Amino acid sequence: MGLVKREDIVGSWTKQSGVILCINCMNNEDWDNLAEDNIITEDEATDGGTLYFCDTCKKQLPVNSENEEMMKDNETYEEDLKTTEEEDLREVKEFEKTIEEDEKE
Ligand SMILES: [Zn+2]
Repeated sequence: MGLVKREDIVGSWTKQSGVILCINCMNNEDWDNLAEDNIITEDEATDGGTLYFCDTCKKQLPVNSENEEMMKDNETYEEDLKTTEEEDLREVKEFEKTIEEDEKE
């Protein structure tokens, strides 16, 4: 192998413990410790010969890409942000109204 694209990696497995992790369950340390002989590529997971299951989330590899879920999270985050901005704006307007009324007196 030697050269593996990051997007071809669907998981990792540790020979000593036999633990298999999908990319969603791998943390930064797992990525750092990744070696050529403990990566699971998409080809290996989809050739039908061997089935890989993540030991943490129990899903079969390859799992849905992490990016899709991150995109979903971002959408919700942006919606939340919008609501907060609108609320802030409303609060500011009400505050200005209070000041105007105060000045009248
Ligand atoms: Zn997993």
